[in-house]
Amino acid sequence: MLKIGCHLSVSKGFLQMGRDALKIGANTLQFFTRNPRGSKAKDIDPEDISAFISFCKENGISHFLAHAPYTLNPCSANPETRVFAKETMEDDLKRLELLGGCMYNFHPGSHTGQGVETGIEQIADTLNTILTAKQKTVVLLETMAGKGSEVGKSFEEISAIIEKVHLKDKIGVCLDTCHVHDGGYDIVNNLDAVIKEFDAVIGLQYLKAIHLNDSKNVIDAHKDRHEKIGKGHIGIDAFERIINHPALRDLPFYLETPNELPGYQEEIETLKKLFTF
Ligand code: FE
Ligand code: FE
Ligand code: ZN
Repeated sequence: MLKIGCHLSVSKGFLQMGRDALKIGANTLQFFTRNPRGSKAKDIDPEDISAFISFCKENGISHFLAHAPYTLNPCSANPETRVFAKETMEDDLKRLELLGGCMYNFHPGSHTGQGVETGIEQIADTLNTILTAKQKTVVLLETMAGKGSEVGKSFEEISAIIEKVHLKDKIGVCLDTCHVHDGGYDIVNNLDAVIKEFDAVIGLQYLKAIHLNDSKNVIDAHKDRHEKIGKGHIGIDAFERIINHPALRDLPFYLETPNELPGYQEEIETLKKLFTF
């Protein structure tokens, strides 16, 4: 069965988010751990969490993906910004243990002029400080579009970070289709070759999740502007191949397209129809 869901708001609580997922036909979901701009996290209500967990179990919703605020920058030239990123991620990871084993996705960061190698070093340092052997959450590095000084725009950069991380079973990769396309990987005409390259450079065992987004821009644009599925430069035929590819089809897929709930519901229906059994 296709594991497909989307980014949902948790502002009305976890249980309500589970209900939203069910309503739109999603069997997985993603949410921000706190305001995406990175403010203070709301206090977590343990009753809401346990109601959410039971609700999801009863309704076949699984593979929760928490997304860190995208403003965090663990490889900023400013040391205070780096410390803030580390402390926020550490706090997120502590809270996420309540979910009993989810995934936590973050943007590796922007080196802001320090150079890619220093960026990679600082990202790995952050991970080595916050990861613990007993945590149940797996932390995912998101593949980036490469706008500005973003680190993680190539499989080589992602692989270099992973290589420096000690607790390798706590780390994985979330491949964002809009970002890799913007980063120059031809998933439209050469999906197989891109997946082979991922395997050769990073290793498919690290690939844990897919962000499914079309792109407003042409390949290699380094812009990061998401588009609705089938309405951008990736196109519906490519998405059909992506969700059915033998190396990808068992992974959870998360939409982050410019949509409200009804739009997400339509995309989920479309993709379910395109999934072959
Ligand atoms: Fe993201
Ligand atoms: Fe993404
Ligand atoms: Zn994006």
